[in-house]
Amino acid sequence: MFWIASWAGGGTLQRSTAIIGGGLAGTSLAWRLHRLGESVTVIDPVEPNSSSRVAAGLITPVAGQRFVVSWRYDEAWPIAEAHYREVESLSGSMLLVDRPMTRLIENEREAGFWAIKRESLPRHLWRELEPGELPDTIHAPLGGVVLPAAARLDVAGYLDATRQLLAASGGCRFLTGRIRLPEDLRYSGGMWHVKPLGVQVTRVVFCQGFEARGNPWFDGLSFNPSKGEILDIEVPGLVASHTIHRGVWLVPATNGAWRAGSTYTWHDTSAFPTESGCAEIVERLERFLKMPFQVTKQSAGIRPNIHGFTPVIGSHPTVDGLAFFNGLGSKGSLLAPMMSDQLARHLVLGEPVSRDVDVRFRMRGERS
Ligand SMILES: Cc1cc2nc3c(=O)[nH]c(=O)nc-3n(C[C@H](O)[C@H](O)[C@H](O)COP(=O)(O)OP(=O)(O)OC[C@H]3O[C@@H](n4cnc5c(N)ncnc54)[C@H](O)[C@@H]3O)c2cc1C
Repeated sequence: MFWIASWAGGGTLQRSTAIIGGGLAGTSLAWRLHRLGESVTVIDPVEPNSSSRVAAGLITPVAGQRFVVSWRYDEAWPIAEAHYREVESLSGSMLLVDRPMTRLIENEREAGFWAIKRESLPRHLWRELEPGELPDTIHAPLGGVVLPAAARLDVAGYLDATRQLLAASGGCRFLTGRIRLPEDLRYSGGMWHVKPLGVQVTRVVFCQGFEARGNPWFDGLSFNPSKGEILDIEVPGLVASHTIHRGVWLVPATNGAWRAGSTYTWHDTSAFPTESGCAEIVERLERFLKMPFQVTKQSAGIRPNIHGFTPVIGSHPTVDGLAFFNGLGSKGSLLAPMMSDQLARHLVLGEPVSRDVDVRFRMRGERS
């Protein structure tokens, strides 16, 4: 085990929080707590295959074969956009790109779902794909739907920018490593002690992604993690300003490269790329991308889904100073800022969290 402190504050912290896990959940919570005047220590091993570091960062108002509006989209998107724009302006780096998504209709079944759904889907969320709007090399025999409000977050860029900005601010520190639970945490004298670090805090928030399955304090939750794989590809000559989605999505990355994905595999929590994952993405891409492309990299991560498929936040029902933030599933970029806002206000100001996401009820098996 290794530890690197990017801010060597040390000593006892009053009204202080240790956040275990520095993915989208832990990082967005660090911002919110910091803004409410708390001292924060984020502990994370910074591994390249965490869900957040693998994620494509797509934010879409409508998803799935049945064109379902994302949970609390109208509330979550303005909060997410404001938060990421603020981090962008503080860091001077481009993190959030407005990029419409074109959903190509995949087959007659999906065309049937769309014919029904278009009658009720709010008009500000979609428009018809115009003829000639996509290059000829994109095969779209059944047409498509444009989702103009879609966007893409550079998730790794956001995590790294936050570490730099908050560490420099003096009220927040980042320790690189992994703590063992429960043995590395002890409660005495009204404080939680993170033993290997010599850190004492009044509160610990677990933001561990799918690894929270083994957390002994929050063991009543029903996790349903899904493995996802993504390819980095080169497509010489392809020019498209939209993210294109047909079974898999294809999105411009940096330096003329593209990313394509992703797979969903249940009951496999090994965050390693597989041949079958690569083959599945390539086969689906070839259904609509009529151009040669080359795979340059493959990544895999585990999405933290919890039964009910909505986030779960809040304080432990009986143990003082322990809290939880998880269940971002495949929507971390959209939902993390809204949920961290609510959790921080709960922890610092005592505001209640909504019942449908409250960990106390979800641990009892209540569904949202
Ligand atoms: C292939 C793929 C594609 C995706 N695409 C998208 C997308 O396009 N849009 C989108 O919004 N979402 C996407 N997601 C989902 C998104 O990644 C998640 O919603 C989000 O990253 C979850 O964030 P998290 O912080 O809860 O978990 P994580 O990112 O997993 O972070 C948890 C962190 O906690 C750390 N940790 C765990 N235990 C300990 C411990 N004991 N001590 C210290 N640290 C610990 C882990 O190492 C990890 O760094 C995708 C996911 C995958 C796998």
